Order: sequence, then C-alpha cells, then structure tokens
Amino acid sequence: MTDEPSPATKVVAAGRRREWTGGIVNTPVWRASTILYDDVAQLRAAAGRDTHHRLFYGRRGTPTQWSLADALTELEPGAEGTFLYPSGVAAIAATLLAILSPGDELLLPDSAYDPTRSLATGLLKRMGITTRFYDPMIGGGIAALIGERTRAIFLESPGSLTFEVQDVPAIVAAAKARGVATVLDNTWATPLLFPAMAHGIDYAVLAGTKYVVGHSDVMLGAVTAAPGRFARLRDTSFQLGQVVSPDDAWLGSRGLRTMALRLKQHGAAALEIARWLETRDEVAQVLHPGLPSCPGHEVWRRDFRGSSGLFSFVLDGGDEASRAALIDALHHFGIGYSWGGFESLALPVDPARYRTVTTPDFAGPLVRLQIGLEEPADLIADLERGLAAFRAARDRG
Ligand SMILES: *Cc1c(COP(=O)(O)O)cnc(C)c1O
Repeated sequence: MTDEPSPATKVVAAGRRREWTGGIVNTPVWRASTILYDDVAQLRAAAGRDTHHRLFYGRRGTPTQWSLADALTELEPGAEGTFLYPSGVAAIAATLLAILSPGDELLLPDSAYDPTRSLATGLLKRMGITTRFYDPMIGGGIAALIGERTRAIFLESPGSLTFEVQDVPAIVAAAKARGVATVLDNTWATPLLFPAMAHGIDYAVLAGTKYVVGHSDVMLGAVTAAPGRFARLRDTSFQLGQVVSPDDAWLGSRGLRTMALRLKQHGAAALEIARWLETRDEVAQVLHPGLPSCPGHEVWRRDFRGSSGLFSFVLDGGDEASRAALIDALHHFGIGYSWGGFESLALPVDPARYRTVTTPDFAGPLVRLQIGLEEPADLIADLERGLAAFRAARDRG
C-alpha cells in the first residue's frame, strides 16, 4: 500500500510507537527530571550522543513529548521534525530567534496576531532586528519588499481578527527566489485543512492551545520544520530551555485523536452560522474565508481543504455600547480570549488598534465568534437574541 492515509486516519495512529506505549493504546505520562545510567561509561556516552528520541535529562523530553511531536510531524508530509513549546507565543518566539540575528529584517503581515507584533516591536527590535509590516493581500508583490537584510517572511493565513487569506504559494515563491525563510502561523487551519510543508513553508507554527488540545484547558505550542531547518530550531529551543510538561503533552495527544472529527463539526457549524449572519440586516459583512465577502476567498478555495470554527462579523453601525449589548445578551457563548475548545465564545475585537500599514474600512464594530460543538440551531437562536439587543441599543442612539 503506497496510498497516503487521510488526515482523519492519521490523527488516530500518529506518534504511537510500541516502545513508548508498552502495548497499551496511549503513550503514558513519563515524568522525569533525572535519568539514571548504569555506570559512568554509559553516562559519558549519553552526553556525546544526539538526544533525539533518547532519554538524557527531563528537559530534553520523554516519550510522552516525543510521541506528540512525532504525530504532528506525520501530519505534515515532507516535514523533518517538530518541537513543542509551552504556548503558541513561545513557539513563534523560538522560531524567529532561531532564524534572525541582529541587523536582519523580518516581514510581518499587518493582520498578524497581536502578541506576534509585540514580539517584533519589543524583544526583536531591542536585539537590533527590524520589522517591516506588509499588506496581507500583497501576494507575489512581496518580492518588491525583500531587501538585502530580509531574512524571514512571517505569514498568518487567515489573519487574526480580520481573516484575510494570504496567497501562500506566491509569497513562498518570492521568498525562495531570494533565499528568505518563511514562517506560517497555521493555527486556524491546522495541517488538516492546510498542509504547510506541501505549500513550501519552512516553519509551520501551531498554537496547540486551540484545536490540538481542543478543550480550553492546556497551553501548548508546536513548530514543524522542513528538511534542513529542524536542527537549528531544536538547538535554539534547547538553549532557550524550552520544554513542555509531559502532562500537557499527554493532553495534547489526547486532544489530537479527535481533532479531525471536531474540526469537521466546528467547520460545518461555523459556515452555517456565518451564512445565516450574512442574511441579517444588522450585519454589514461577514469575515469568513469560506464566504466570497472575505478578502482572499478565492485563494482559500484554491488552497484549503476546508474551514475551521473561527470568524468575525462587522455590525451595521452601532458603537462600543451596542456591541456590548449584543455580546452580553448571549447565553451559549462564553466571553473570553482564545478559541478552539468545545465551547462557543464571542469577543469584541478592534483590529484598527493594531494596524499600521493597512486600515480596513468597516461599517461598524467587529465581533469575533468561536463556534463550538453546541447544536448550531441553538447558537443561531442565541445570536438572534443578541442582534435584537444590538438593534435596540443602536437605534436608541
Ligand atoms: C492563540 C494564538 C496564538 C498563541 O497561542 P498561545 O498558546 O495562546 O500562546 C498564536 N497565533 C494565533 C493565530 C492564535 O490565535
């Protein structure tokens, strides 16, 4: 059999090696700091060897972390390896620190996740690494921005809060032509909906906190690297002392087993609700990559295998108070940060606060929705209630 199994099949079996599981189904939690050796000769030999998949010291991981890392590598055909981090932001920071040195320049989309921007304008700037923000819809036009000092192009597709879908193949082609590394924040799609390595990306970042964990109870990050890129990422991450606890890695592996199934439900329900919102007078625009009204929708159709459960919508007029009236009227949506768990969430978002090179012109304030695993009809009824509260507050003035 040479056929590549489908992602739903892979997430079930990936990373489960008999020498790590001992014959039970799940790789157990191997907790460790000290690893004991039989004698001094063995201790000395261990220190000189590559510690990949070898017990050495707790900070280098145990089979519990290796199992999850390997599973994530298996989901990205063509990848060399994966390193785990205690959060998505830690994963982004380690990747950029692995690539960039003082004097280098980073290109960052204006739609990037806010903490990614803060890293660029904070720590990286302090280290003498400059950042140029670019229009996420730039496509192949990125070639004109690549200068002598440009060492990395960061991508996030779709973008945080506003969901612009980037032309990854066009940007990757421009980067490869100039020997520039590409880093993609693939948290929204995961490798199941957008295989990053197959699209030529060098480093694919996942905030595992979201869909991998899937239950809103663990912080986790991961970076999967293309061939030739893993060693430097791993060395840098070791030097930074990055390690994920085996308990959290175990919860990540547990979440991964149902990720394909959950994504299917999140995706279908979110699309149904996004389409319903489009029909409402109170809504000026729905920013969901699967809808033609979203910038980059055609690119999404070309490159993605589906959509996940996070999108935004723009209200038709109104202000901070009428938007709050909408969100406060919801019963089934929690109010809080993060996403990717089983519970629906609603969040007021203000992208204009962060943007520096592109200022999308929206008709009203934005609400971001994470669609969970509740029955979509219940969520729609809830949103109907919320929109009525919004309308009343808006029209009162
Ligand atoms: C949440 C998020 C992150 C950061 O993940 P944490 O685990 O919360 O640090 C990175 N990128 C995107 C797009 C996210 O939504």
